[in-house]
Amino acid sequence: MRSAAAPWTPRSVAPPFRIPGRGRRRRGASGSASCGVCPRGSADGAAGSADLPHGAGPADFRGTGASPRSSLACGIGPAPGAGLTGTRDGPGPRAGRTPAARKGFKTVTQVTDEQTPAEPAAIPAEDEPQLEIIPLGGLGEIGMNCMVLACQGSMIVIDAGLMFPKPDQPGVDLLIPDFSFLKANEDKILGLVLTHGHEDHIGALPFLMREIPRIPVFGTRLTLEFTRDRIQEQRAPMPEYREIRPRSNVTLGPFQLEFIKVSHSILDGVALAARTPAGTVVHTGDFKMDLSAAEEDRTDLFKFASYGEEGVLALLSDSTNSDVPGHSVSEKEVGRTLCRLFKDSPGRIIVACFASSLTRIREIVKAAIASERRIVFTGRSMTGNVALAQELGYLDIPPGIEIDFETADACEDREVVIVATGSQGEPMAALARMAAGEHRQVEVRGGDTIIFSARAIPGNETAIGELMNLFRHLGAKVVDPHAEVIHASGHGHIDELKLMLSLTRPHYLIPVHGELRHLHRHREIAEELGMPRSRILLMADGQRVALSRDRSYRMMKGVRTGRRLVEGRRLGSPADPVLKERRRLSEFGIVCVSASLDSRTLMPLAAPSVSIQGVRYADEQDLTMAVQEAAWDSCAEFARSPGSWTPGPSGEPEELVRKLQSDVKSLFRLHISRKPVLIVQISMLDVEALAAPEAPPLGADLSGSWRRRAPAEPAWRPQERPGTLRTGRGPEENGP
Ligand SMILES: [Zn+2]
Ligand SMILES: [Zn+2]
Repeated sequence: MRSAAAPWTPRSVAPPFRIPGRGRRRRGASGSASCGVCPRGSADGAAGSADLPHGAGPADFRGTGASPRSSLACGIGPAPGAGLTGTRDGPGPRAGRTPAARKGFKTVTQVTDEQTPAEPAAIPAEDEPQLEIIPLGGLGEIGMNCMVLACQGSMIVIDAGLMFPKPDQPGVDLLIPDFSFLKANEDKILGLVLTHGHEDHIGALPFLMREIPRIPVFGTRLTLEFTRDRIQEQRAPMPEYREIRPRSNVTLGPFQLEFIKVSHSILDGVALAARTPAGTVVHTGDFKMDLSAAEEDRTDLFKFASYGEEGVLALLSDSTNSDVPGHSVSEKEVGRTLCRLFKDSPGRIIVACFASSLTRIREIVKAAIASERRIVFTGRSMTGNVALAQELGYLDIPPGIEIDFETADACEDREVVIVATGSQGEPMAALARMAAGEHRQVEVRGGDTIIFSARAIPGNETAIGELMNLFRHLGAKVVDPHAEVIHASGHGHIDELKLMLSLTRPHYLIPVHGELRHLHRHREIAEELGMPRSRILLMADGQRVALSRDRSYRMMKGVRTGRRLVEGRRLGSPADPVLKERRRLSEFGIVCVSASLDSRTLMPLAAPSVSIQGVRYADEQDLTMAVQEAAWDSCAEFARSPGSWTPGPSGEPEELVRKLQSDVKSLFRLHISRKPVLIVQISMLDVEALAAPEAPPLGADLSGSWRRRAPAEPAWRPQERPGTLRTGRGPEENGP
């Protein structure tokens, strides 16, 4: 099957996946790419062999540019302009945006056979068993990992993770994948496999359980236990848990699953191998090759190699550190550094790390024991995770080593280690409260050593730097990962990705778990090993590829995916105007103008009331008065010549509302060159009717006919202009 010219020569798919004597059916006008759609198409063409989906690798995926995240689609895509048709002359990705895409849902348009360039290629015969790979999240972003495997009408889901919002998403708690596709295929889903307990893999589980409560959830013990609190917090239905262990097997319909131990920054992580009638797919989960880890935490290289020997149709491999050369640091190395620092420091040690980094917490415990220190854990998630890990036997802290703050106070400073949350500068976490002098039990002082045993997540550098400044100001010594080996990534570096490729020897590589740059870099790494580009499938969320037993593949119609925003227990879309409003509010402030008009004359009954928040101006009272006067002038001018006007929802003239908005906005533009959020409210009061004896009592339904809306000819009665206008005073004082 493989071309002699192809430099990549693993025995990637062994005979079990081939049917002897059965040729692949080819279609003349269909199939994949002569690389016309690929920027480096000719190179691909040379690398791809006649019996491979020639040149069709990444190129075919690129035509599906209907995603609203056009940067992703375009980035993956071929030359600009190569859009839905997969040709350079086709409409660009934006041209294909559907209404759903404009609303913020990614909709991937089908790439049909007709749309792919006419090159004889590997189109799977319809009677060949096929395995579909459908990422719903985690490709093009770090977070929201969710992958669907489908075969013979059944599906399994791998991970259901969340992503944390960016600073430009105020008020949003979390982001989760759009589960519409899973909901629509509810009856086909045989199970959800959780690879490990990090939020980007389990965090969306409560929301998925609310949609589809009946799916059994498979995971190792610690992983499943980590999900319980989240499910309860969200008041979601508790799933049917099925505990698995590394090297255990589960058969779900056409999927024969085996779980493979991997090293990571959390304990009890697994990769997943799924044998299917179409071939075997290996999903690495998050992994590193920590060769110095304890036996029970070490990546099961033998298992990966044995799958490589047997034949792997596709490897879905973690791309997080695909741009970091070499081999990741071992946790043991971090442990040695911590031990040295603990021994050499004369005072207290305060270590900040992720509460989920149980491998790190283990090393801290060992270093504390070796340096004859005792440990206090602080921070809700830290104490909760440590207690859970101890209860389940994942963390062994000898009696007397863990103490509380009271006991710590009675100890010498050189006998104490405090392990805290807040390594990312989170303002409410234990570490930030210590730095601000607001922690109830810890007062940082000279002689203390603060160890930041975590990398800075991009975007958090400033907050972390501020914390370090505060600790320095208090006289403490600060140790960060730039100065000492006090942090090790949980994701394999380039050499480890190469090792994974060499062990599993897949026919196809699908880089997962990374931003676009990571996925591309992962492709380059595989190419460096001689893997032809045509067998490295760069996919985006919502795309759908069918791999066949004869090692061909084809793109299928994409599925709906995208991001849902979680705010409390409510879900929203990133395209909601409410986010834009919040950004404007935070940036420019808000101005509320409300006026009461006589419904007969349309004249204001009092000076308009003005409230301004979050707008910077030299003299706030001046600004308030200027707005009041502008509003008064607008109302009076309208009352003089209202013409025919349209009553709004509360009977107010819509034309006046627009005029007020325009006039007040002009004033702000003129004076402070800013556009605060402006809210205009007009109340229409029939003063005579209110004064009449037949006026309805307070609380009566006022929507009836007693409230006249538009006098045919409102009489203009000149009134005194407001004198001293102050905001916040009663109308009797502010009125004309
Ligand atoms: Zn992870
Ligand atoms: Zn992850």
